[in-house]
Amino acid sequence: MSTTGLPPYDDTNIFARILRGEVPCKRVAESEHALAFEDINPQAPVHVLVIPKGHWCSFADFSAAASEAQQAGFWRLVGQVAHGAGLEESGYRILSNMGVQGGQEVPHFHVHLFGGRRLGRMVQ
Ligand code: 5GP
Repeated sequence: MSTTGLPPYDDTNIFARILRGEVPCKRVAESEHALAFEDINPQAPVHVLVIPKGHWCSFADFSAAASEAQQAGFWRLVGQVAHGAGLEESGYRILSNMGVQGGQEVPHFHVHLFGGRRLGRMVQ
């Protein structure tokens, strides 16, 4: 068990399977370093998940261990998806649940991008 409360990376997780094309997704955008697709249970009119192409359980792992190019490429795609969805004028939210206490369910690092409605406060 790591300090995040998550087990070591396991490539049978659902997002690893989506990355390998074993499970379908509604793809929004893709780059060398990341894939963006619609959340299966959207919490806002726009709810996109962005995942890096690599084996990182959480933001803690990704920020500590991914290369500068991987990190830059990942965040670049997050921005491109927000821009492509036309959210910059209205505003949007990016969020990553980290570890057990952070409410993370899928143990492959991901960012949620929410938009398309007025968002309330989400910390509970
Ligand atoms: P977490 O709580 O780990 O931050 O969020 C995981 C997210 O993944 C949830 O919002 C959930 O709806 C989404 N999700 C879980 N399984 C699938 C799936 O098979 N396909 C897609 N597109 N999203 C999924």
